[in-house]
Formats: sequence, C-alpha cells, structure tokens
Amino acid sequence: MTLLTVETIADLRRKVAEWKAAGLTVGLVPTMGALHEGHLSLITRMLGHADRVITTIFVNPTQFGAGEDLDAYPRTREADTAMIAETGGHLLFAPPVSEIYPEGFATRVEVDGLTDVLCGQSRPGHFDGVTQVVAKLLNMAQADFAIFGEKDWQQLAVIRRMAKDLDIPTEIKGGPIIRDELGLALSSRNAYLNEAELAIARQLNVVLRKAAYDIAAGGFAPDTCAAAAEKLLEIGFREVDYVECRDAASLVPVERVGEAPARIFGAAHIGRARLIDNHAVN
Ligand code: AMP
Repeated sequence: MTLLTVETIADLRRKVAEWKAAGLTVGLVPTMGALHEGHLSLITRMLGHADRVITTIFVNPTQFGAGEDLDAYPRTREADTAMIAETGGHLLFAPPVSEIYPEGFATRVEVDGLTDVLCGQSRPGHFDGVTQVVAKLLNMAQADFAIFGEKDWQQLAVIRRMAKDLDIPTEIKGGPIIRDELGLALSSRNAYLNEAELAIARQLNVVLRKAAYDIAAGGFAPDTCAAAAEKLLEIGFREVDYVECRDAASLVPVERVGEAPARIFGAAHIGRARLIDNHAVN
C-alpha cells in the first residue's frame, strides 16, 4: 500500500471511517517530524498491533514556551514522508496550524499532579500544550491504539492519565527508548549539536545509568542524583534542569529503591539543545 498524505481533519476522518467500515483496526503515532529511528520504531511497533497506521507530523506551537525552539525546530517533511513510506505506514496526517487551532479556539486540557514535576517544572505550560494537542489528535483519529516513546516517560504517564480521565477509548501504548550505537537517546534536537557537543551529550546516558546502578545497589537517591547533576556540569553540560529518582508510575520522589519500579530522570542543556533521558533503576 502506498503512503497517503492528508492535511485536513475531514480527510483523516474519511479515511479512518473507510478502514473501520472494512473491519480494520487503526493505530496512531503522533510526532513532530524530523523523524529518526526512534519514531520509526513506534511505527513498526504499531504495525504489529493495528491493521492501518497513521503517523502525524505537527510541530505543536502550544507546547513550546517563550524563548524555546519553535521556529528553529527541524522540519524535514520530504525525508520524513520517505521514511514513513519505507517503514510501511499507511497514512501521514500533516495539518497546518490553522487546521488544529482555528480562529476562536479556546479550550485547554490540563492534567494535575504528574505535570508539576520534572519537565513540568523546567518547562512551565509544556504539558498543557501536549495534552491539548494529543487530546485533539486522539479525538480526530478515533484510533484503537496510540503509541508514545518511553524517552518522554513523563509525557507517556501524563497521556495515559488524560486518556483514562477523559474516557478516551484509544489504548495508549509505550515503546522503548531507541539509542545510537554509543547510547545517546535519539532525538530530533540532536540535529542541533556539533561533534564536540554530541560527545558531551552522550555522557547524559552514561551518568544516568551509573546513578541508576548506584541507587539500585542501595544508594540514597537524592545524594546520588545531586552528584550526577554535578558530574554533568563538570563534563560540559551548560545547565542541568534536573536529575531525580522517582516512582515509574506516580512520579513521586523515591529515596531508596523498594518493590515498586523506580526510574532516574535527567534533563540538561548542551549547545542549543535541551536533552532528556531516563533509565529503570530496579
Ligand atoms: P517528538 O517528535 O519528539 O514529539 O516524538 C514523537 C514520539 O516519538 C514521542 O512519543 C516520543 O516519545 C517518541 N520518541 C522520540 N525519540 C524517541 C526515541 N529515541 N526512542 C523512542 N521513542 C522516541
């Protein structure tokens, strides 16, 4: 099947209705484009769950704060289209901003609690933009499944909460973090980095993994995380937003590992990029 591209909600809905009438299941893969193997892994995963897979590309302005990289965010539509087609995706939904936020748009979607910590603190309002656009995409597509990457672990937790709270009938799935051969989590923002910065960026994964290991071995997480943040600055990161150990589901702080799954989360700035990563602790 060749990849079909649509830019309007009406065309998206028409196609989904056609598939559903034929008894086919539908999966959704929301992205902001500048696709890499991390995104493609989600499409591939979704192809294993659903008969038809929709990839969306929308650089959502409402999830970028003032002074963030909305204008600079890489837009590589032609290459993205080729990659989706190659991976076997069936439909690309790439709407203009006016289709998603027409004149008079006035509705917000906010998830309390989970959005107060980690990236919610360092990027105020970011998750309100994410839930706003994802709620809309889920409503538009009426898909059976939607998948999000564990690289954005907090985002996945927030979206699961929102879908449950708003009785959205789409099943939310997570896909594992895809890394380069040296362990750096793939990100569209890695494109901002030169070779020297990439070498530093790769240490985020190394430092977080070591901290996760130390906490799993019985270390006091707040101390281990503070030392890890120091280490990142020493290595050359310009600024560290956080290094924290939290419960994998509730995101409440964890001091020492217990039975419940915990994760270590990190966010740090290098060059023009703000990078995030996370690892299981136990
Ligand atoms: P983005 O285009 O950055 O908004 O990401 C779109 C989706 O791809 C989100 O669900 C991300 O969590 C996911 N994603 C981005 N990078 C990776 C990665 N390295 N591994 C797995 N999923 C990823």
